[in-house]
Amino acid sequence: MTEPGQFRTSVIIVGGGPVGLGLAAALGTAGVPVVLVERSRTVSAVPKGQNLTARSLEHFYFWGCVDQLRAARLLPSGFPIGGITAYQSLAGSYWYAPAGRETVGDFYFQRAERLPQYLTESVLRGRVAALDSVVGMYGWSAIDLRLDEGGVRVTARAESGATREIDAAFVVGCDGVRSMVREQAGIGCSATDLGQRMVLAVFRSADLNAGLARFPARTTYRVLHPELKGFWRFFGRVDPEETWFFHAPVPADATTGTVDVAALVEEAAGFPVACESEYVGLWNMRVDIADTYQRGRAFIAGDAAHSHPPYGAYGLNTGLEDAVNLAWKLTAVLRGWAPARLLDTYSAERRPIAVETAQAIIDGISADHAFLDRYSPERDRIEFEQAWGGRTVGETAPPSYEPHYEGSPIVCGPAGSVCGVRGQHAQAARAGHHLSPALLSSGRNVLEELGRDYTLIVLTQDGLTQDGLTQAGASAAAIREAARAVQMPLRVIADTVEDGRAAYGSRYILVRPDQYVAWAGNRLPADPAELLRRVAGQAESEPPGPSVSQA
Ligand SMILES: Cc1cc2nc3c(=O)[nH]c(=O)nc-3n(C[C@H](O)[C@H](O)[C@H](O)COP(=O)(O)OP(=O)(O)OC[C@H]3O[C@@H](n4cnc5c(N)ncnc54)[C@H](O)[C@@H]3O)c2cc1C
Repeated sequence: MTEPGQFRTSVIIVGGGPVGLGLAAALGTAGVPVVLVERSRTVSAVPKGQNLTARSLEHFYFWGCVDQLRAARLLPSGFPIGGITAYQSLAGSYWYAPAGRETVGDFYFQRAERLPQYLTESVLRGRVAALDSVVGMYGWSAIDLRLDEGGVRVTARAESGATREIDAAFVVGCDGVRSMVREQAGIGCSATDLGQRMVLAVFRSADLNAGLARFPARTTYRVLHPELKGFWRFFGRVDPEETWFFHAPVPADATTGTVDVAALVEEAAGFPVACESEYVGLWNMRVDIADTYQRGRAFIAGDAAHSHPPYGAYGLNTGLEDAVNLAWKLTAVLRGWAPARLLDTYSAERRPIAVETAQAIIDGISADHAFLDRYSPERDRIEFEQAWGGRTVGETAPPSYEPHYEGSPIVCGPAGSVCGVRGQHAQAARAGHHLSPALLSSGRNVLEELGRDYTLIVLTQDGLTQDGLTQAGASAAAIREAARAVQMPLRVIADTVEDGRAAYGSRYILVRPDQYVAWAGNRLPADPAELLRRVAGQAESEPPGPSVSQA
């Protein structure tokens, strides 16, 4: 990493929380010049976003720091990442351990991980520091943004009061819920206030761990209480023994001075818990989603674009996927093989994911509220136990949360489809969906072979005749030629359908730089160049975007 000194770059990232750092890692590993402006010299103090999905771990693999991330964890390797749901308190007789994201683990190339957000940020800061094309400006606040047809200008102010101007082709606001970039780019935000004040506490207690010994080992404990309208009292492990993260509903007029965290913890636990407080903060249950993720040359990602209650551990994971989606598109446009209108697909693909994720969270809270109103062991124990048992069955079904881009204009998905989160994981390669891992005959995983550009996987039939092999070779040559014609970098991987690769269900699979399938079929289209133009956003039918010049 070079020190700030030259202030013309390709992309300015405002905000070096986990999403801004992830974006810097993604662009920096692709060699794109980036200036990262982050107000704080140190990482945030609260553990917050701890559960990282298997998909997020794939990002860390591609950014070259997955081993460092795993080494930074506080829980022992193999500690089950999952939760316990209990009724009324953790001492009660009604509880279950719902199946979590581990049920979809086989559809990803990496395992999920859990560690405090400040450790994730430290790993990313370390990775970004090793990238020559990234200039980190820690201790600088972005205070002004100018956007025009030709570029962007960000003014940053240091703690000393000194100011600097940075020019670039693009700016990305990863500057959190109160995003300056979103506001100055004139992007509106739709808010839904769920009308509940919450406390967030970090505390140490050996008693709590001891009291949970009756449960199978888990990292999170969710308490549903009939008086709390579907909002949870929630414990999350920070380390294996004594540090805990806790949130719970509090009265609207609560302040950090009036909230009795120890009493709330004991009520949720249902047994005596001596605890030593490390942090107490307050927040409001609300959803904020930006009306668009782009205005001209300005983009927003992570909490700047969407924030919602931390139920289900979606916030950071969704933000990291924003970064990955935007990074390959910015890289393609800056390299010149895609037009600026490719960037319009960032908001088109990513915003519906946040909208549907937030709705799923709100629906979950409403469903819990309705359940707690309707059933009570005091009123009718048998009826309650039947309904509680029914919840257990429902929650152990494979999750139907599967973000996809079937409806994207640069994906050849089914007619009439949309981008969203409702779907099922599958081994089959489906346009708009994440590519599941598979072993190649070399012994390496397909995902290890995917590059930073588009990749075409060609799977030949088992026992092919020489003619068949020649045909497959000719198809690969045809698409390479088409890629050259549209000036698009393309890698081709050839293998057979043996050893389970037939489960992809297609002989040709075109994979995007973010490991999503753009197109899949059993024979190449008659005009492969037309396919490549479409997936690179070069097709004329797409609405024009802003004109772009490399800074
Ligand atoms: C209680 C709680 C639990 C959570 N649990 C999970 C979980 O388990 N899994 C999950 O995926 N998510 C979780 N989340 C959500 C997750 O913490 C956030 O989604 C995540 O922090 C978003 O990262 P970000 O980089 O977008 O924004 P932030 O983390 O808010 O980072 C924004 C950065 O921008 C900087 N900044 C702001 N303005 C400027 C400026 N003008 N100039 C320079 N720098 C600026 C700030 O200093 C900050 O570093 C949780 C959140 C909470 C509150």
